[in-house]
Amino acid sequence: MLICPRCQSGNVILNGRIHNGKQNHKCKDCSRQFVLNNKHIIREEIRMLIGNALLERNSLRAICRIFGVNLTWLQGFTHSLWEQLPDDLGLSKKMIKKIKKMQVFGLQADEMWSFVGRKAYKR
Ligand SMILES: [Zn+2]
Repeated sequence: MLICPRCQSGNVILNGRIHNGKQNHKCKDCSRQFVLNNKHIIREEIRMLIGNALLERNSLRAICRIFGVNLTWLQGFTHSLWEQLPDDLGLSKKMIKKIKKMQVFGLQADEMWSFVGRKAYKR
């Protein structure tokens, strides 16, 4: 089954051919058009592993090196994962209320003096 490179939807249809005769496809969910290129198809298992690598906070460039994907693709993939998240990040209303109640207190910095040579030459 074909998967949309932008939204990972399987709702993909044939959409004529491009200038060089290659089959063009179109995602019916996000309207993204794409041509298959076997070199750049990243399998679902690999996508899952890359998702896990992102959760482990590996750098994008490290993930590119490990999985052999290009940075532009990875940024798009990361963006699509982000867009799939619910606005409340899956938190319950109770948790959101609790977080809003939390307060951030200001920092207090006491003065600190030093001197060079004599106490009169303050720094
Ligand atoms: Zn799509």
